Amino acid sequence: MSVLIVGSIALDTVKTPVEEHANLLGGSASYAALGASFFSPVRLVGIVGDDFPEAEFAFWKERRIDAEGVQRVAGKTFHWSGEYAWDMNTRETRSVALNVFEHFRPELPSSYRETDFVLLANIAPALQAHVLDQMTRPRFIVADTMDLWIETTRTDLDALIPRVDLLILNDSEARELTKETSLIKAGRKIRKSGPKYVAIKKGEHGALLFGENEFFSCGAFPLEDIHDPTGAGDTFAGGMAGYLAAAERTPTFADLRRAIIYGSVLASFNVEAFSLERLRTLTMDEIRARYEMFKAMSAFEEIA
Ligand code: AMP
Repeated sequence: MSVLIVGSIALDTVKTPVEEHANLLGGSASYAALGASFFSPVRLVGIVGDDFPEAEFAFWKERRIDAEGVQRVAGKTFHWSGEYAWDMNTRETRSVALNVFEHFRPELPSSYRETDFVLLANIAPALQAHVLDQMTRPRFIVADTMDLWIETTRTDLDALIPRVDLLILNDSEARELTKETSLIKAGRKIRKSGPKYVAIKKGEHGALLFGENEFFSCGAFPLEDIHDPTGAGDTFAGGMAGYLAAAERTPTFADLRRAIIYGSVLASFNVEAFSLERLRTLTMDEIRARYEMFKAMSAFEEIA
């Protein structure tokens, strides 16, 4: 089953304490689409400018990523630049140039409207809602967000959250949204505001999953070499959504637990190289092997 993904498609400049690379492919939708494509075909919605590499469209086609929903317009692609501190976790945004993104209005091709699984990757909540408004009746909606929207478009975000089945956010965002210091209280409070499920990411400390009467805590895969953490959250969300769509049913809590482990596994590969380079060469065999290793080291054997 296909998964529809909308989000940003960007050219990023990323600086870590040891390296800096400019104009790399990035954006929430780019990471999420490639992450999801390991499990399900993807219908991608986004916008790029005329500086965007044509080769990427050929790559997407190869990887079952339908780009009919990607608008190509005159102007420059969205550009984001960030710098990581020594912990490779704390990040500062150095610059953002919205470019063609400034007037982006996601319009779905008619062939996309009946897609059952949707991932609203990180973009403004009003745009995420506009995508949902054009859809017939999706079976399962996953949404990601960021601190910027909590701080600048809170009303739009509050209107979107009850329409979502699974909301994914990170620990500081969950605290900011709820004004709770405890992540357990925060997760429960967000769930009560609408979504059936809430996933809270804790970076190198794993993730928490909240259902109505269910709870799951998942560690992170231990990694020695992190080269570029950019897009870890987007790859995690894409992996989860792609895995859930592949199951071809309304997800159960057990499906979500497996999805969160697959999401973590994909995110762990993503950070091993800059931009999407590691995901480009990654194989399903490598994903399965790491999933098994992760389960074994976390005593998750009974799950799958
Ligand atoms: P993450 O590391 O998961 O937070 O995602 C990083 C990606 O988000 C980068 O590739 C950026 O291009 C993209 N990004 C940064 N700021 C925004 C924004 N305001 N809206 C959408 N995407 C963004």
